[in-house]
Amino acid sequence: MPAATKNIYKKLIKLTFSAMLILCLTACSFSGPFGAENGAEKLSKTDFVLDTVSTVTLYGAGDEALLERCFQLCREYELIFSRTDSRSELYALNHSGGMAVSDELLELITLARDYAELSHGAFDFTLGAVSEMYGFSSDSPRAPSDAELAAAMEHTGWEKVSIDGNIVTLIDPGAVLDLGAIAKGYIADRVAELLLENGVDSAIINLGGNVLCLGSRPDGEDFTVGLQYPFEDVSRTIANIRVRDMSVVTSGVYQRCFEQDGVFYHHILDPVTGRPCENGLLAVSVVSPRSADCDALSTVCFVLGLEDGLELVDSLEDVYAVFITEDYGLHYSKGFEDALF
Ligand code: AMP
Ligand code: MG
Repeated sequence: MPAATKNIYKKLIKLTFSAMLILCLTACSFSGPFGAENGAEKLSKTDFVLDTVSTVTLYGAGDEALLERCFQLCREYELIFSRTDSRSELYALNHSGGMAVSDELLELITLARDYAELSHGAFDFTLGAVSEMYGFSSDSPRAPSDAELAAAMEHTGWEKVSIDGNIVTLIDPGAVLDLGAIAKGYIADRVAELLLENGVDSAIINLGGNVLCLGSRPDGEDFTVGLQYPFEDVSRTIANIRVRDMSVVTSGVYQRCFEQDGVFYHHILDPVTGRPCENGLLAVSVVSPRSADCDALSTVCFVLGLEDGLELVDSLEDVYAVFITEDYGLHYSKGFEDALF
């Protein structure tokens, strides 16, 4: 294995899929599930769900049963949105060509379609067959040949999906829907709702780096979220931002990647070519109240690239973004520094 590949794998293991490190300023004072922080009770649980390491931390209210319900909810959504789990509803849709779907799946596909439209197809949730060929999450990822890629690309295109009531139809039965660029954000929003309904108004939901900060820290201060330094250990941050009632989501080349024959491949695909986007970006982090928007927009902005991505973010209300270019330069959207530093 080439040294660079080994290096990437080593880093990937260290990162455990996490794009961001939450730096709650006093969070390291104890290791058990219960504790007190600035006089407020803290309760935290980490588990492997949604194909990633996820942590939910509650401050001042809630109990272990509620924490467990958060993870249960994630598992229930996984059984709806997973492209790979043969028990999931999305899997059934992909293999049936069309069917009546649940309200949740309908809502997420509709939102994905809205972002596809907004981004003129940069966000393409029909790239499932292409992602599958690369196998970014598998033990043996590989780059498809030009012929394989061309065959799979025949069946992509967000306009190949029609929605009528709760009936979703794949106009091209060969299309494979992949909601991986938006599902974790949507699920984080649902977990936040569950917490609010149960009297928790201060919490951090971290689904593998898809972060949602509910309310503020128990002492009333903003939460601090560290943005990961690309390719480095998760504890090394390139910027720290201050947020309350905001989500922070990063799309980065280092999150799922591999090297083959000296070529670096990452998981954010150009919907025109089916190849990893090569536009000089390493990562884009988006900050906004709703996590589903952050998740979708971080992918959208990555695919659009620095100039068009910044223009889009600047046109949207309550959305901030920072782009990291290959020279490790940071490029902020309008108002970012005032709002978040
Ligand atoms: P994210 O980490 O949120 O940017 O999502 C990346 C994931 O979304 C990939 O692992 C693919 O499953 C899928 N994906 C890749 N390229 C695109 C794209 N252009 N539009 C929508 N989803 C994509
Ligand atoms: Mg995304």
